[in-house]
Amino acid sequence: METRIIGVETEYGVHTVHPTKRPLAPDEVARYMFKPVVSWGNSSNVFIPNGSRLYLDVGSHPEYATAETTRLDELLALDAAGDSIMHMLVTQAQQAMAKDGFDGDVYLYRNNADSLGNSYGSHENYMIERTTQYRRLTQALLPFLVTRQLIAGNGVVIKDPAALPLADQFPGRSEPHFAFSQRADYMHEAISSSSTRARPMINTRDEPHSDSTKYRRLHVIVGDSNMSETTQLLRFGTTDLLLRIIESGKPLQNLQLAHPVRAIRQTSHDLTGQTPLELADGRTMTALELQEFYLTQAQEFLARQGPHHEHLEQIMDLWSRTLDAIASQDYSSIDTEIDWAIKHKFMTAYANKNNLDWDAARLVQLDMSYHDIHPQRGLFNLLEARGAAARVLTDAQVQAAHDNPPATTRALLRHRFIETARAMGMDYSMDWMHMKLNYHPLHTLYVRDPFETDISIVDELFAKVASAGH
Ligand code: ATP
Ligand code: MG
Ligand code: MG
Repeated sequence: METRIIGVETEYGVHTVHPTKRPLAPDEVARYMFKPVVSWGNSSNVFIPNGSRLYLDVGSHPEYATAETTRLDELLALDAAGDSIMHMLVTQAQQAMAKDGFDGDVYLYRNNADSLGNSYGSHENYMIERTTQYRRLTQALLPFLVTRQLIAGNGVVIKDPAALPLADQFPGRSEPHFAFSQRADYMHEAISSSSTRARPMINTRDEPHSDSTKYRRLHVIVGDSNMSETTQLLRFGTTDLLLRIIESGKPLQNLQLAHPVRAIRQTSHDLTGQTPLELADGRTMTALELQEFYLTQAQEFLARQGPHHEHLEQIMDLWSRTLDAIASQDYSSIDTEIDWAIKHKFMTAYANKNNLDWDAARLVQLDMSYHDIHPQRGLFNLLEARGAAARVLTDAQVQAAHDNPPATTRALLRHRFIETARAMGMDYSMDWMHMKLNYHPLHTLYVRDPFETDISIVDELFAKVASAGH
């Protein structure tokens, strides 16, 4: 795939604290958050001018799905804009709640598990050619995804290993510790079409949101919801690279894992990367060896093909530095760039200073706080503000992504449609391929090609509607 469409969905966790009273339940708070959304679109499922989707499913995990993009910096900016849009919704919700007599502080977390053991997360969508053998592709990608947490895990404080899901089935370390991934312990299957969100690492439900004879949408749901822009760049950039290597038809050594669901846990709970993972053919490789193999493949691939975008140098450099840091157990060269290392640095300093162990409730709280999206309160945001977390984007890029769509996809048409319909006071509804004026159903736009950028199609539609005399 020469130019690939990528999009990312983020689900947020809602939590309310009140010093004296029982606070509102998360689903009630989420409903407050989505009141303004419902008033824009008569629904809690709307598309907004930057081409992205805001969505509240049953339950209490507000979701933001970025518009389709072809550039990683645009993807990061759109995703970051999602955080500030959610923060605006929280701020409004708090005011509305206070009016109704429900005071208390609302927290929105960009993380992967709540205190009740539910997991939610960050879903990646990569467009692939229909002609690519899907089974071969997903099988080849899986060992990479299982070990990708070494370079893209959020880091997590494991206070009570026995309380983890399926702990009896996958017994591991019994003492409190710090692990690579928040999501790993919630994975139940490798590849499946299961609709339960937490289960598979790759969801095979076939909804391409484009011409299904030409394309598929690879739905990767194993990832941690990263805070760090550099970590996200690495995560999306390396995954796209692996897809390109597989798509090029080069036979990758068969590294299929014997037990992916066990391996993802073994990998997470060993910061040295040295635990042997069993391969299907009976050999073993460590997580670090697997990642080193993929890094070498990517280096060779780029040496042959040349770079396909401008972030590759940074991605390749950060990838190899991260593996070196794990191999040497000296994280200082990545501790402003990789989420787990940023978090680990802060936590160990705090624990040492206060003489705490990994079972301290205060460390679990700080782990949560790292993911609080509040710009002046969230721990990651505070670290970033004081230069302890590196950036890829400027504030101006994020600000621009609030209202502007990416320039290279049909999100441009969606933007035009929304702006025009709003200006004309017309109700509309849409999904990724359709744009519909509720009172002019005959003039629905159907845009199957995600690369379509000709906005005159939208203007023609509105001209037709106008000339039809409505
Ligand atoms: P749900 O989350 O409700 O189960 P879903 O998995 O279809 O549904 P959405 O939340 O609607 O996901 O998000 C779809 C994501 O897919 C968006 O991030 C969007 O940018 C991306 N996307 C849209 N079209 C394509 C495409 N043709 N190829 C790859 N990704 C796409
Ligand atoms: Mg979704
Ligand atoms: Mg999804």
